[in-house]
Amino acid sequence: MTGANFDWHRRAVLGAMAALAATPATAIDKGARGAADPFALGVASGDPDVDGFVLWTRLVGAFAEPLRAGAVEIRCEVATDPAFRQIVRASRGAARPERGHAVHVEIVGLPAGRPYWYRFHALGATSPAGRAATVPHTADRLRLAVTSCQHWEQAQFGVYRDIVASAPDLVLQLGDYIYEQSYPDLPTVRSFGAPEPRDLAGYRQRHALYKTDPDLQAAHRVCPWVVTWDDHEVLNDYANLANREGLPPELFAPRRAAAYQAYFEHMPIRPSLWRGRATPRLYRSVDWADLASLSVLDTRQYRSAPPCAAQNVARNVRLDACAEAAAPSRTIMGRAQEQWLSDRLTQESRPWSLVAQQVFFAPLWLDGSHQSTFSDQWDGYTANRDRVLAGMRYPAVRNPVVLSGDVHSFWVNDLATSDGVPVGSEIVTSALGAASPPSGRFGDVARNNPHVRFHDIQHAGWVRLDVDQQSLRADMRVISDRIVARSEVRTAASFVAKSGSRDLVRS
Ligand code: FE
Ligand code: CA
Repeated sequence: MTGANFDWHRRAVLGAMAALAATPATAIDKGARGAADPFALGVASGDPDVDGFVLWTRLVGAFAEPLRAGAVEIRCEVATDPAFRQIVRASRGAARPERGHAVHVEIVGLPAGRPYWYRFHALGATSPAGRAATVPHTADRLRLAVTSCQHWEQAQFGVYRDIVASAPDLVLQLGDYIYEQSYPDLPTVRSFGAPEPRDLAGYRQRHALYKTDPDLQAAHRVCPWVVTWDDHEVLNDYANLANREGLPPELFAPRRAAAYQAYFEHMPIRPSLWRGRATPRLYRSVDWADLASLSVLDTRQYRSAPPCAAQNVARNVRLDACAEAAAPSRTIMGRAQEQWLSDRLTQESRPWSLVAQQVFFAPLWLDGSHQSTFSDQWDGYTANRDRVLAGMRYPAVRNPVVLSGDVHSFWVNDLATSDGVPVGSEIVTSALGAASPPSGRFGDVARNNPHVRFHDIQHAGWVRLDVDQQSLRADMRVISDRIVARSEVRTAASFVAKSGSRDLVRS
């Protein structure tokens, strides 16, 4: 593309950028110019489509503290080359204090299926360049890096170097991107340096701390991310407004809203999903050409309170002593999201139907009774799970694969309907960096759970998922020592599914 073809797409300037035209020059805070690197939190791209993606950064002051400034002018450039010789989008806008000086730019109207490079300019500084890409119309392959659970105090994030080296098309983060609390009984490698966040300033500070990690920043620069939250972005095991701290809804709601706002301010998620909405929407689709649909769920915001729980604390329950867990009226998705997923599965046209979500989906029996389980995962919402599994039997859904996190361990599970018809598979990724569960946490897994094909509760790591028209391959990439920044990463196990088989087999 030549300079003469410089394409100012009508909608190229959106989000924060669009507001600038209405911002008088005097409203821009010239006094904010300072010595500290305003781009110390890095840059990110996310939620790619065939014609664009969303770009993110957040301006900060010294030591990643909030910028003490009013509205700050910021420019964004998108190029077809890493040296920015061919700039195809250029826009300017304002980073605003009411958004923590976070900036989201939705880029549209670009040609499909090619890489782009982007950067920001503000306060006399230029950000590092990130690489994004538009989704192709047709694709032979897709490589996903699937991650979850990264506890700042419990691990170095050096495993991201293995993800960067693998050159994924997308990083898929399934929640617990931040942790709100410390676990003083576990070994630590570094400190939050702050108490548990309870308000907007606290959650912003926690997200900013995470974003200072150089390995995490490098992974955000290498490709677009698709993210969804789990519980620790707000509070351990919360369920809609039910929470273990016993806060009444009128006190927990503003805390949750602050946590949600900080999350959106720090993630490359399209602002149209959350800005100006009473209830932000995180569930969405990010489909990959004619190859794979990706349905991204939010199983926290709308879920029923934990069943048979005193003080709303999710716990191990016996389902035969807790009829409530199976009540059809209970939901982990909420009605609207469940209908949305059902509609998508009914109308599926791509060979692979990936469902990306937070918590363990298959039954997980903790003893031989097939009754004892943990109510914070789908076992506490069995009717909702049965309805989703029934939907996966639609002829249109040839290869459903559920992707999960949360349990800090790797699992491969067979999925079947409530009447025993095999429908597909679940792949659970371990923590990217967090302590492993105690060795006896899940009981005698092999004896009590014949539908579990593989589990590894000793290692942190990530799942490399390679999809083509004929097959899906999952490689469990495990790290030898999460405490060491440059620990070795190796493939501990690999599983392959042939299209149409609904069967993930160890290879
Ligand atoms: Fe976790
Ligand atoms: Ca979790």
